[in-house]
Amino acid sequence: MAKQLVVLGSTGSIGRQTLEIVDYHKGRFSILGLGAGANFDLLSEQVRRFRPRLVYLSEADETRKSALAALGCKLESMEEMVVHPEVDLVVVATGGKAGLPPLFAAIRAHKTVALANKEPLVMAGHIVTDEARRNGVEILPVDSEHSAIWQCLRGEMGSVPGTLSTISRLLLTASGGAFRDRRPEDLAEVTPEEALAHPTWLMGKKITIDSATLMNKGLEVIEAHWLFDVPYERIEIVLHRESIVHSLVEFVDGTVKAQLSLPDMRIPIQYALGYPERLPNDFPRLDLARTGNLSFGPVDLDRYPCLRLALEAAKRGGTFPAVLSAADEEAVNLFLSGVIRFTDIATLVERVLSAHHAVVEPGLDSILAADQWAREECARLAGIVHR
Ligand code: MG
Repeated sequence: MAKQLVVLGSTGSIGRQTLEIVDYHKGRFSILGLGAGANFDLLSEQVRRFRPRLVYLSEADETRKSALAALGCKLESMEEMVVHPEVDLVVVATGGKAGLPPLFAAIRAHKTVALANKEPLVMAGHIVTDEARRNGVEILPVDSEHSAIWQCLRGEMGSVPGTLSTISRLLLTASGGAFRDRRPEDLAEVTPEEALAHPTWLMGKKITIDSATLMNKGLEVIEAHWLFDVPYERIEIVLHRESIVHSLVEFVDGTVKAQLSLPDMRIPIQYALGYPERLPNDFPRLDLARTGNLSFGPVDLDRYPCLRLALEAAKRGGTFPAVLSAADEEAVNLFLSGVIRFTDIATLVERVLSAHHAVVEPGLDSILAADQWAREECARLAGIVHR
């Protein structure tokens, strides 16, 4: 029987590659539902190819709705789609906080979730992991670093999240992003086009900018903390330019396990889709003799102020990570639309964080309120910073 999938965020970078894997392993997976934001044309094309029964488009007027219905599928909300009794796996690859409601709905309906969307864990990690534990739901990481750690932990006795007996450290690798070789004093003048040229990974716009500031790595530290239940003091970042070693785990006996592959997101996506099986494919292979050297080095927090802010917000907890994430999303959009400079991203995020009155142990309502406040505060401050 084919595994029945719902893919939320199907027209984004992860969503498209997920469908590529589904297409590649015909007969093993089938698409029950697709959800997208605004890309009607691509969604329609995906519907014609994968024949889902359910479909959702966030920005759909009546014309688009009837066009989708004419393709033979039923329009449903993302929350309704994920609880369908035949769903085996929900792939959450939406951007931003849009993934939160369907993620909670899926967990409460006891559906396994492959999570590519960082925000739910960054904003509400304690709530998401509590809900998952209570409902006996596995959250399968799709992010390459977390997939690497997950793969290193498989087969380790006592390394199931919640039991730390054998893990001594998690080491997340970072490529250093588009500006790793630029002088910090030149960064104020870089353009969005330059920032969007990532040296090793091909990804969506927001995450590519976050990779250039290393905010992405900070968000990934928070993700790792919640996914693997490891305290922040035991999560480290190591600069690794080649993006071949996707992350590492050090165990209590000094053994370090790493996962290596070419930087190809289809590999971690396929691992999550196939889990607990490891499926074959014919994607390009890592040739270490040709790669030659793999380099590793420390990360300079002065060079990457966004990473410093993320690590601080992580440790302060409460609503700080939600504010960090929302302010960053707004600041990145302002940079991409040419309103602020690259270096203003960190300045703005820092100002929003310092103006924030945090809620300790927040519920979802306080988190969403903090998110909204951070976006408004960021927009307000952008005018001042820009002038
Ligand atoms: Mg990543």
